[in-house]
Amino acid sequence: MAKLNTTPTTTLFPILNAPRPTGLARLAAQSTHADDGHLIEFRSLPSRSILNKSVSRRKLSLAYSINPFRGCEFGCTYCYARYTHEFLQPAPITTPPVGTHNIPQQPWALAFEHEIYLKENAAWLLEQELRRINPADEIAIGTATDPYQPVERRVGITRSILEVFAKQQGYRIGLITKSSLITRDIDLLQQIAARNTLVLHLTITTTDSALARQLEPRAPRPDLRFAAVRKLRAAGLTAGVLCSPLLPGINDSLPQLEAIATRAAAAGASFLGAHPLFLKSCSRPTWLSFVREHVPHLLDDYNRRFAAADFVDPAYRNRMASTIRRLCRKHHLGERSTDALLTRDAYTPHPPNPSHPPRPSGTLDPSKTPSTSNTPGAPGLASETWDRKKPATRIPTTEPIQTNLFAAS
Ligand code: SF4
Repeated sequence: MAKLNTTPTTTLFPILNAPRPTGLARLAAQSTHADDGHLIEFRSLPSRSILNKSVSRRKLSLAYSINPFRGCEFGCTYCYARYTHEFLQPAPITTPPVGTHNIPQQPWALAFEHEIYLKENAAWLLEQELRRINPADEIAIGTATDPYQPVERRVGITRSILEVFAKQQGYRIGLITKSSLITRDIDLLQQIAARNTLVLHLTITTTDSALARQLEPRAPRPDLRFAAVRKLRAAGLTAGVLCSPLLPGINDSLPQLEAIATRAAAAGASFLGAHPLFLKSCSRPTWLSFVREHVPHLLDDYNRRFAAADFVDPAYRNRMASTIRRLCRKHHLGERSTDALLTRDAYTPHPPNPSHPPRPSGTLDPSKTPSTSNTPGAPGLASETWDRKKPATRIPTTEPIQTNLFAAS
């Protein structure tokens, strides 16, 4: 007699056998609807920690990052922070080999700009966690999300974080954003800068509003960002411009970079930095579909450039670094020697160039601005004053913190 097969081939309640999400995926599953925006859902995310520890590749330095949100409304086409939504994926993601270009668009990479998680209790967590870290370790705010994306206006998570820092002293804090909303918090930023080292970065990749609209569809216009730099500087804060990423053939020509440097100098920016595109596998489909649609003649060039690595080749990197260095000297702007958002290399003044045109009236002369930092040994604004008798001094930099790790926003 044939034996009965008692092993069920189908399950009556398949959900019971589904693997249970763990870690962040579990917290995300517990998140609750918080608000809606245009094509965006906001969810409130239970959080266990707000300080994220990052160690340099050679373990020579350590820094912390703070991201008040997961995901970002600005939806920049080149954004590599999309990987932070991988936790929405039910199964672990297999990273495609370097040089793989035809990767389908992953739903979680798109969810990065349409499903935004608001971290609960961020200020309370920060107060607890700051007690456990060494103030000498730097802290970067906004490495994988923009801390001043539009929802911040309503929820104030970034502001609550700044309120915590305003009660501290001796910390070294870098912050990056594309949003003029940062000027809302000038009062708190001044309080922080008075007792800590604070360096603010406005990312401005082009002066061309139409191009910016294509590259960074929901971010404020470049002129609003330059205006924010001007306001921050007028408030005595250290604030500069990051023209990152440099996108070969799109925003990296000399006239385009000259325009950025000119506007940065006119806004009184403390420094100018720029670093080439970092094309992680998670950002490749979004970026390459942008190239295919808007600048198809560059597609082969991008495929070739990033065929063997996520980074551009050293020749391009060095050429761009030297161009930016020359522009900084010409326009009297401080240089950034790394693409980290941190504080140690934020001041590298150059001797005044006699042929440099005077600053437009109403713009700041850094040499007349008093220092706002009283952190011992910390480079305050006064350190931007150029002493003609002394050679330019470079504040020692630490090992670059995982290249590009701090330049998402
Ligand atoms: S690059 Fe920055 S601002 Fe743009 S989407 Fe990514 S996190 Fe947001």
